[in-house]
Amino acid sequence: MRRHQVRDALVLRRHPLPSGDVVATLLSPDGKWRAVARKGRLPGGNLARLSLFHDVTVQFWRRRDDDLALITQVQLNGALSGLARPEAYPYAHLLAELVDVITVEQAPGERGYALLASGLRGLHAHADPEAVALAYVWRLLGVAGMAPEVRSCAACGAAPSHFQVVEGTARCGDCTTSGPEEATLFLGVEAMRELDGLVRGPLGEAVHRPPTDRPRHWRALRSFVRWHVGSLRSLEALPC
Ligand code: ZN
Repeated sequence: MRRHQVRDALVLRRHPLPSGDVVATLLSPDGKWRAVARKGRLPGGNLARLSLFHDVTVQFWRRRDDDLALITQVQLNGALSGLARPEAYPYAHLLAELVDVITVEQAPGERGYALLASGLRGLHAHADPEAVALAYVWRLLGVAGMAPEVRSCAACGAAPSHFQVVEGTARCGDCTTSGPEEATLFLGVEAMRELDGLVRGPLGEAVHRPPTDRPRHWRALRSFVRWHVGSLRSLEALPC
């Protein structure tokens, strides 16, 4: 029987109950889990510490492994106040929802957890949160084993211009097979090179030298996520 435990976590989702209690969906290095914090039972404003996207250390206990954990203490490891900026907030939702959805079947591991934490810190601090989001969404997909292979044409090896969304590959103009528009996107050679950089180039460079035609990249990302992950409310809601 396991009793009191302590674990680091990021708050992915937060669901207030009519009773005033809060059920939080948390991401830790060893997986996603849910816990309840009872109103009035936590000392010193702990419920506020369980706000969305917070990086926390929680103390909790549960009777059995399948019980909802009961949180007894929350320590805030760093308030990312920059996430509340209107230009950053929608992207924090996007990263959190993506991780929430892709970790249903498999734990994200230490790398996925660290990547989400780093992405949220980036959105908090960076003057260009959109650039941070574009890079981190592709990296999080990569951690889940879903990174497309777009460096060269899958058929002949030339510089590609088309993104084969369904296959997660790329083709040059000569080798492109015609298909429904959502399955094959023409991005052009330059945007395909940028996409390859977002997917697997140095992360710092992907953030600091963002793609020139961002709407084009959001279109590509949205098509890919729809096919391989499903429809994400936060992604569909972005204006781009
Ligand atoms: Zn080709």
